[in-house]
Amino acid sequence: MAETHAYPDLNALKARAEALNAEFASLDADARLRRAWELFGDRLIATTSFGRDAALLLHHLHRLKIPVRVYFMDTGFHFPETLAYRDTLSKAWGLDIRTVSSERTELERRQYAETETGPDGAARLRITNIDACCAINKVEVQRRFLALPDVDAFVSGLRRDQSPARKDMPFVAVQRGKIKIMPFLDWPHEDVDLYLRLWEAPEHPLAHLGYTSIGCSPSTCTRPPLPGEDARSGRWADDAKTECGIHLDTGF
Ligand code: SF4
Repeated sequence: MAETHAYPDLNALKARAEALNAEFASLDADARLRRAWELFGDRLIATTSFGRDAALLLHHLHRLKIPVRVYFMDTGFHFPETLAYRDTLSKAWGLDIRTVSSERTELERRQYAETETGPDGAARLRITNIDACCAINKVEVQRRFLALPDVDAFVSGLRRDQSPARKDMPFVAVQRGKIKIMPFLDWPHEDVDLYLRLWEAPEHPLAHLGYTSIGCSPSTCTRPPLPGEDARSGRWADDAKTECGIHLDTGF
């Protein structure tokens, strides 16, 4: 039976995360997920962007029979292939997907989007203020579902080798007053690819086009990396921004 956690203060929550991090560091990914489910039960959720490596976490949940709610933020700017991938994996593995998006008006949600002409002469979307757009369409949305009273902890598929900004992350942290668990942090991308091949997991339709990290579709937000660049370098490539904000805040 899962424990019910009520942490009245941030220090107690951080101490809990530190203790769990020490425990999880000596476990493999299966054991980390099983332990998370044992500890938090249905007060545990998972989050995914249905990007290139989303199947790693989602297939583990399916294989280990961990029936958590899986939250997916629909920014309104996803590639159609990403939405199709969501439906493919959901159907294949019977996932409980909760698609959530901003409660603001359509005008507000898209206020930073404009159309430009690409190098090939075709019209394409660009975002004029990526920080503000991410704040509305991702950070605010995440804040809302993490604040749900029946959520104590969430699992994310982040990995340390995805970018320099992620290389020192712990397996368990605190974010927005909830326990955040990252069971695949120490998986190199070669192991991810091997796992997905061995289990014949469906591939994101854009993976074969060279996209190693797949976010929103505007030209300002996602492109395939150039030779020698890290996996996430194609995200907001013309800007110093490396994270949309949903993995940055480790406090309330
Ligand atoms: S990634 Fe781009 S389109 Fe998506 S929310 Fe952020 S700025 Fe907006």
